[in-house]
Formats: sequence, structure tokens, C-alpha cells
Amino acid sequence: MITAADTHVFPRLLDLAYPNVERGRGVRLYTTEGFEILDACSGGAMVACLGHGDTEIVEAARAQAERISYVYNHHFTNEPQERLAERLLDVAAPEMSRVRFVSGGSEANETAVRLIRQYHVDRGEPERWRIISPAQSYHGALFGALALTGRSSLQQPYDDYLAGHLHIPPATWRFDPSGEAALEELDRLLESAGPETIAAFVCEPVSAAALPGYSPPEQFWRGLEERRQRHGFLICFDEVVTGMGRTGTWFAAHQTPLEPDVITGGKGLGAGYAPLAATLCREHVFRALADGSRNFEHGHTWDGAPLPCAVGLAVLDALTERGLIERVRDRGPALREELEQALGDSEIVREVRGRGFLLGAEFVDPRDGESLLPDELDAAALVDQTAFEHGLLVTSTHSTADGYAGDQTLLAPAFIASNAELGEMVDRFAAAVAEVERAVKSALSGAR
Ligand code: PLP
Repeated sequence: MITAADTHVFPRLLDLAYPNVERGRGVRLYTTEGFEILDACSGGAMVACLGHGDTEIVEAARAQAERISYVYNHHFTNEPQERLAERLLDVAAPEMSRVRFVSGGSEANETAVRLIRQYHVDRGEPERWRIISPAQSYHGALFGALALTGRSSLQQPYDDYLAGHLHIPPATWRFDPSGEAALEELDRLLESAGPETIAAFVCEPVSAAALPGYSPPEQFWRGLEERRQRHGFLICFDEVVTGMGRTGTWFAAHQTPLEPDVITGGKGLGAGYAPLAATLCREHVFRALADGSRNFEHGHTWDGAPLPCAVGLAVLDALTERGLIERVRDRGPALREELEQALGDSEIVREVRGRGFLLGAEFVDPRDGESLLPDELDAAALVDQTAFEHGLLVTSTHSTADGYAGDQTLLAPAFIASNAELGEMVDRFAAAVAEVERAVKSALSGAR
């Protein structure tokens, strides 16, 4: 374990001792101290969908680096970028027409915001700049992407740097199971801001870190589609987590009753073997720029470089040839049921939700089975810590200051996890939750 005092690295949390990982194989990670961890979260950030140490991907990266590793998108295009764009649109998102490759999810979302803005400017509607998104979301750490969430705990103390986008409450079982209240708030925001100033609605079709495994109810999607047609804003799905098969289809949009104009992807695209993300758009979005300014002058140094794109191609081939999208689609529902069953007796688990290999468990106060757990218990940290002691990696989220969500845990295993490995993840997680439940009850009875 490495603490802030033992390192030259500037760590994220200065009070946390970090296990030092030296290698990984499949769904297992090994630390320098010889500790083995079962990875139920694809490296921790829902990235390593092919597991760790995949020799085919490593070989593709090596071969590409020997040919040409880097050239700048401003001066050149290159074979891996061209082939990945073609394959991605052919295999994974045939409804999309163009793709811009970047290095990470925040960059992909900011590229989407610039593209959306440029679309409206080029069409002669420069007053459209504002974006509406669900408050309980995560779209990245850069200021443009950070402005898209409504979570004040993430935005402070940077509020002054962030654009004034607008947010609606999440339509969860707690506040709005039908989605009606979210639509009413959407209407209210459209009305007060002026619908002619709204550039886009941005959301995760299935949420990850902010509301693990949550999707809005069907009625919400239909209402959103109706408002898009009425008011002329674009819809962008942030599929940085859900893209590339995580929910059982190439993109979660394919399970949603509306077609987004723009999609962003990341994480599983490079699968942890290279930083790679993408912004995809439909033909009419591309056409607005093609018939307009003919310029989309947004770029980062590593955009579309040969090495990450060659990795992306190898990942796409692996997902296709090994039937991994089908695997997630077919195995996902049973995995969720197994998790539900294993946590069925727990009085602190209110809901298990999600699709494919993107599942979430939401914790509540066992005294009424409904309220959020008191903040001071820090149940999220307790779950992660206890799971870790059981040799399991999961990722938990703390309750939010606005009261929209409580402590929750996300499970997002690699698509290559065997049935036995998935079973082991469920067992270890249930054991960890049972231990947390005992600790929570004892703390609550002491507090009484
Ligand atoms: N969008 C979603 C849904 C995410 O979960 C994340 C990261 O977790 C991002 C965007 C940002 O991606 P990155 O950290 O690669 O910038």
C-alpha cells in the first residue's frame, strides 16, 4: 500500500493508502504485495471490457507501433483511423454517419458540445447554446463536460468556470417513477429559458457512476422525443460507459425508443489498452457543417492517432469475433437476477438495477427501507473497503447533497468473465454487503 507520504505522485485522495497493482490477467489483478483482487469493475472505471493482459490486443498495439505510432490529425489521416471509422459505423452504429476520435470521455463530450453548437450556428440559429441534462449524471472532469452535470459537490469550487446549463431531476422510484415530473420540469426549463436558446438535451441512456444502472422510464423517452420535434434541439447520448456492448447492444441507444443525433463513446473502445474515445453524429448533423462553415476546427494532439486507433480496431474485432456483445446480452439478465437473489435478504439494499454488464445496487436506511443512509456513515466508502477486504473491486458513489441519490455501488465486469467468475463476484459482493449491513445497523442503534 502506498500512502501520500511515500510517493512522488500527487494522489487523488491524500488520506487513502493505494494498493500498488503490478499485473493483471483476465478478471484478476495482482498487487506488489501479492494480494489477488477479483475485478468486478473492469479496472475500476468500467474500461477493461476484455479483461487484463489480452495478448491479441497487445500484439496489435506492438505491430502498429512498429509501423507508425503517431502523426497529427491536422496534417494527416492514417490507415487505422480510416479503418476504425469505417468498421465502427458499419458494425456498431450504422445509423451514424461520421466519427471524430479523441482520447477520453470528457474530450468526447466536449467535442459533442462544440459540434452541437456549430450545428446550430451553421444553420443560422446562433442563439442556441444551452444544454439541458439530468442533474444526477457524470460527463467528465473538464470544465465543459463538468458543466453538464447538476451535482454541486462535483462543481464546487469551480462554479465560476462553468457554463450555466440547466438540469432536471432524475425520474427514479423515489421521486418520479413515471417520468412525468421530469418532463414537467423539462417543459418549465424550456419555457423559462426560451426553447429557441436550447441547443441540446444530453444524458446517459443507462447511468453509470452517478446512478448506477439507472434508465429513465419509457414515458420519459417518448416525451423527450416529442419535445425534440417540437422545439428543434438535438439529443446527445453520453455512451462513454454504455457504448461498445456494455448493456448488451453495441450502444444503449439501440434499446431506447428514440435515436440520438450525437453519441459519445470511450472506455470500452480502447478497453484499457489505449486512451481512445469518440464522438459520432448522424448525417444531418454532419450535413449542417458540410453545407455551412465546412470547418470543425476542434482538436487535441492525440486525436485519431494510429496507435490508439489500431487498438480500437483490435478491440472491435475481438468483441465481434468472440461474440462478446451477444454474451453480455444473453448473460446480463441472469447476472442481475443472481445479484438480486444474493442481496434479497439485505435490509440495506433497496434496489438492484441495470442492463447487460452494467449493474447497480442502491442502499437505504434499514429503519424504514426508504430514506438515504446518514452521510456520516459513509456507506459507499464502507462498501468499497469491505469488498476490497473480500478481494473484490467494485465502485461506489456517495449520497448527493441535493438528496437525489443515496449510497450506491456499481458492478461492471469484463465481458470475458466466465460464469464461475461472475458467480464469485456476486458471492463476494453479497458477503461484503452483509458485513456492511451489520456495521450500519450497529452504528444506527448506537446513534438512537
Ligand atoms: N461520461 C461518463 C458517463 C463517464 O462515466 C465518464 C467517466 O467516468 C466520462 C464521461 C468521462 O470520461 P473520462 O474520464 O475518460 O474523461
